Amino acid sequence: HKNWIIMSGILYLIPTPIGNLSEVSPRIISTIKEVDFVACEDTRNTSKLLSLLGLSKTCVSCHEHNEFGESEKIVNQILNGKNVAYMSDAGYPCISDPGSILVKKAIENNIKVVPLSGPNAFLNGLVGSGIDSSHFLFYGFLDPKESKRKSELEKLKNIEFTLIFYEAPHRIMDTLKSIYEVLGNRQICVARELTKVYEEFIRGDVKSIIENYESFKGEMVIIVEKNQENT
Ligand code: SAM
Repeated sequence: HKNWIIMSGILYLIPTPIGNLSEVSPRIISTIKEVDFVACEDTRNTSKLLSLLGLSKTCVSCHEHNEFGESEKIVNQILNGKNVAYMSDAGYPCISDPGSILVKKAIENNIKVVPLSGPNAFLNGLVGSGIDSSHFLFYGFLDPKESKRKSELEKLKNIEFTLIFYEAPHRIMDTLKSIYEVLGNRQICVARELTKVYEEFIRGDVKSIIENYESFKGEMVIIVEKNQENT
C-alpha cells in the first residue's frame, strides 16, 4: 500500500558572510549541500560564494524587483517536495535585504521555515560599540533625501532605546549631520568593515566625529545612544 501524499519541502534561510569567509558554519555548508536548489538575491554573487566554498548548486534569482512572481514559483516547488535555501548577498536575508515576501508566502502555504544562524552586521556593530545594548531599535537605512531622513529621525528622537542604522559610504557624512541636527550631540559609534581586515570602531560624540573626519570608506553601521532626557 503506497502513500501518495507529497511531503512539502523546507525553506531554509541562510545567512552569508559580511566580509569574513570563515564565518560560514558547518551547518550552513551541509544545508546547502542537501537542498535541491538555492534561491538568492543575486545569482552571480551567490554562485561565486558557493564556488569559493567548493560547493555547486543551481541558483535561481529572487530579489526585490521580482520577489512577488518568483516567490510564487519557489513556493510551488517546495510544495512539490523540493527543499530550498534562500540567501541574500551579505548577512541575514530579510534584514535590509530581500526574502520577507518569500517567507510570508511560504508560511501562508504551511511550509516549514528554518532559519540558520550566522553573520549579521548590526549585531556585531552593537556589541562592539560599547553603547547600551539592553534595549535597542534597529532601523536599517534612513531615507536618502534629507527632508525625509530628518522626519524619520524626528519620529525616533524620543525613543529611549539605542538606535541602529545602516548607511552607505557616500551618504554617511550627510546622515551624521542629520543625526546631529535632529537628535542632538549624542554618543555614537561608526562600526566599519566588520569582520574584515580593516575593521574599525569610531566612538565619540557625533559633533566631534563630524569635525574630525571628512569621510568614511567601506561598509558601516551607525549606533546611536538613546535619548537621555529622562535619565
Ligand atoms: N542583510 C545584511 C545583514 O544582515 O547585516 C545587511 C544588508 S544591507 C543591504 C547592507 C548594509 O549592511 C551596508 O550598507 C552596511 O550598512 C551594513 N553592512 C554590511 N556588511 C557590513 C560590514 N562588514 N561592516 C559594517 N557594516 C556592514
